[in-house]
Amino acid sequence: MTEKDNLKKHRAVMVTPGKADSEQLTDVASVDPAAGQVRLKILEVGICGTDVEIAKGFYGESPKDHLRLIPGHESLAAIESLGSGVNHLAEGQLVVPIVRRPCLEGCAACVNGRWDLCLSGNYREHGIKALDGFLQEYTVVDADAVIPVSPSLRSVAVLVEPLTIVEKAMEEAKAAYPNRWSPAQTALVTGAGPVGMLAALLLQQHGMEVTILDQRPVDSPKAQLAGAAGIRYIDDRNTPIEKMSPPGGYHWIIEATGYSPLLFRAANLLSRNGVLVLTGVTSGHHAVTVDSDRVNSTLVLENQTIVGSVNAARHHYLAAAADLLDWADRWPGLTQQLITAEYPLDQFAQAYQKSSDGIKSVVVMDKGGQE
Ligand SMILES: [Zn+2]
Ligand SMILES: [Zn+2]
Repeated sequence: MTEKDNLKKHRAVMVTPGKADSEQLTDVASVDPAAGQVRLKILEVGICGTDVEIAKGFYGESPKDHLRLIPGHESLAAIESLGSGVNHLAEGQLVVPIVRRPCLEGCAACVNGRWDLCLSGNYREHGIKALDGFLQEYTVVDADAVIPVSPSLRSVAVLVEPLTIVEKAMEEAKAAYPNRWSPAQTALVTGAGPVGMLAALLLQQHGMEVTILDQRPVDSPKAQLAGAAGIRYIDDRNTPIEKMSPPGGYHWIIEATGYSPLLFRAANLLSRNGVLVLTGVTSGHHAVTVDSDRVNSTLVLENQTIVGSVNAARHHYLAAAADLLDWADRWPGLTQQLITAEYPLDQFAQAYQKSSDGIKSVVVMDKGGQE
C-alpha cells in the first residue's frame, strides 16, 4: 500500500460499545478490496431498535482489538470496485450486505450456511457484534456476503434486511404449525413498527386474514397504511385485542414489540395448533404474574407452540428481495410509505429519535437518480 492509499479517508459514525451517547461522525481509513472482497458505496442505512440499544450503551461489541464500532446493519449499497477473483458481481450493481457472518470456529450450523442458528454463539454481525457496520460512506465486505437486488427496488431495498427477520419468523411459524388438515388462515401481528408492518404485509401476501395491533389512533398513518393493504388495524388502548379475536383464535401470531408482558396476552389468543413467534426484545425487566398452570395446560392440550426467532440466512434475503418485487406490483407505492423519515449522514443522530407515528427512519448517503 502506498502512502497516498493510507491517506484515503471517508466519513463514518463510531460508537464506544457499553457507553451511552458516544456516537460521533469521524473520518476513518478507506481501503481497497482484497482478493474475494468487494468495496461498497453505502447508499442508505435503516435505523432500528438494535441501533438505539447500541447507542444507549446496552448492546454492541467492537471488532477485535478495537475500542469503537461503526454501527448500522440495515443497508443498501452499490458495488464500487471488485477484489481479484470476484467474477459473479459487477461494478455499480445494487446489493444488500448480509448482516451476520459465520463464527470463526465453524460450528455445524454456520458451515451449512445457517449462521442465524449458530451453535457457538460466536457469530459476528456487521454493525452489532465484532464487525464494523454500514453507517459510513464506503466499506469492504466479503463478496459472498452480499445479495444482488433489482434496480427497480432502489427506493425500498433498504427494507430487505428487516424483511429477512420476518421471512425467517414466517418460516418458523410454518414449520411449527402442525395442522395440515386446516391451513393457517388468521394471523395477528402485535406492534406496527417496521418488523410488525413488514410481517403484516407478508402474511397478507400469503392470503391470510391479518390483524395488526398498535397503540396509535385508527386514523394514524400506520393504521391507514395497514388499511390500504387490506389489513385490519386495532388500537389496543381503546379496543383490547381480547375482545376482537376470531372465535377459534389466531392460527399464527407474530409478536413484534418485544414488550414481554404482551407475550402472555398473545398466547391466550392462539387457536388450537396455533403458533406464536416472538421477534422482538427490549432491555427492560418487566415482571408479570401469570397463571402458569393455565399457560401450561393450554399449550399442551391445544398443541400450541411458542418460538423465538432472530436473524436470517441467505435464502431469507433472497425471499425478501423477491417479495418486495411482488409487493411493488400488488400494492404500488405502498412499501415506500414504510420509510417515514430520511436524514443525511451529518444528521444521523435524528434518525435515532423515535416518533410515535414514524415507522422506519433511514440515513441517506446517496438518494440516486429519479425513480
Ligand atoms: Zn435492524
Ligand atoms: Zn457458528
